[in-house]
Amino acid sequence: ILAVSMIGFGIFVGLTFPFFMVWMGVSKNIALSLLMFLLCVLAGVIVGAINIFLARMIVKKRLKRVSDSMIKVENRLHEMSQSDMEQLCDAQDCYLADDSTDEFGRSAHAFNQLLSAFEQSLSTQNAVRKYNRTLSSELALDSLTEGALSKILAFTKTNFGAVFVMESGKLTLTACEGIKDAESLIDNNHILRALKSKITKVIELPEDIVIDGLLTQVKPRSIIVEPLLYKDAVLGVVILASTTHQPSNINHLDMFSNNLALALNNSLKHSQLQTLVALDPLTGAYNRRFGFVRLSEEYSASVRSSAPLGLLMLDLDHFKLVNDTYGHIAGDKILVSITNKIKVILREHDILVRYGGEEFMAVLPGASTHDIMVVADRIRSLIERSSVPYGDNEMRVTVSVGVVSFPETPINKIEELIKYADEALYLAKANGRNQVALYDENVIHEA
Ligand code: GH3
Ligand code: MG
Ligand code: MG
Repeated sequence: ILAVSMIGFGIFVGLTFPFFMVWMGVSKNIALSLLMFLLCVLAGVIVGAINIFLARMIVKKRLKRVSDSMIKVENRLHEMSQSDMEQLCDAQDCYLADDSTDEFGRSAHAFNQLLSAFEQSLSTQNAVRKYNRTLSSELALDSLTEGALSKILAFTKTNFGAVFVMESGKLTLTACEGIKDAESLIDNNHILRALKSKITKVIELPEDIVIDGLLTQVKPRSIIVEPLLYKDAVLGVVILASTTHQPSNINHLDMFSNNLALALNNSLKHSQLQTLVALDPLTGAYNRRFGFVRLSEEYSASVRSSAPLGLLMLDLDHFKLVNDTYGHIAGDKILVSITNKIKVILREHDILVRYGGEEFMAVLPGASTHDIMVVADRIRSLIERSSVPYGDNEMRVTVSVGVVSFPETPINKIEELIKYADEALYLAKANGRNQVALYDENVIHEA
């Protein structure tokens, strides 16, 4: 169309030029002669052709650059959708030269702006996709929050951060990068106030102020407090420390925190469920199934490390009589009280299992024969000295305990350790109850 218009306009100018010449004073015979008409039309066509050539040289070249860039972007997008590529284009690969102030310059500028916004949005989308992959592959709180924190730090281009998670009504540090003494951060007034507001807060720090607890090598200039909310409840908080006043991508931080809150909720629910299925509902001690799993784990660890493993089997004496005298409800109350007494004496890493109705097993990693005897007798003695109030009555019970320790008593498989502890318990009962008996190969075989 452009070519036809240019040639057409050339012919039009050629046809009208002789009349213009007459007006300028050239004689009609010369100006309106056929030769003059032909010469003028020829000149018009030549000018039209030169115009077409110039337009092709300048305009087409520039337009071609735009269309090449667009095709390149389209191809890269296609490649990106099929792989994990990070970047849409290399800096000068897809962008147009923005070197003039005319329409072309402005179009190139607008194209570059559009491409840059597009790249930004793609990179956010990519980061969120990778981040969500981390979240969905982890259920353990520590690894979940550590993975999330490192992705958030990369996305916001901040170097330091910490994640706290609400556990038993208290915010506990579960992940930290680059902050010394991060635990004390949560007592900081600025942070507490920001957390209460339940919205993202950027706290600007003046040059000369170092926020309490933030003893990083580099002084942070702003602190970002991002609460992790699930149905308006605070499940935790992400704290980022940035060395600039305007940290990057803070506007998109909610995409990360919302998903992290969701994953935290799953993780917390999962661990609550795990605990529930592992516990005996009456006493809160581990149930027999979970107890056996833990005993097997401790046995494997003990074989690997050559550390001893003590096992204690405890049965209440004449408990049937207690039930017959006070009733089952009272009997249950005694079982709860006995559990708590045993827990007082056991250490943190010992495992208490309700093995049967009124029978308990305790696994003591690291306990030699001597250790397990001492612990068992402390439990026996504490229970003998205690009573459980029930109405006007003070109920009293005693226990018999059988103990054994590996490797002082050698075994080939874990079931043997349980069997030996059971045999020792049988011995304690046979010897008159309210006592501790150690597994003794000779005595048991004689019995
Ligand atoms: P001993 O062990 O000294 O030989 O006598 P015992 O009377 O305790 O005998 P045994 O260990 O066989 O007793 C089991 C009794 O424990 C039977 C039942 O009345 C009681 N028991 C078992 N489970 C529960 C429970 O969950 N609650 C209550 N209240 N009693 C239980
Ligand atoms: Mg009993
Ligand atoms: Mg029993």
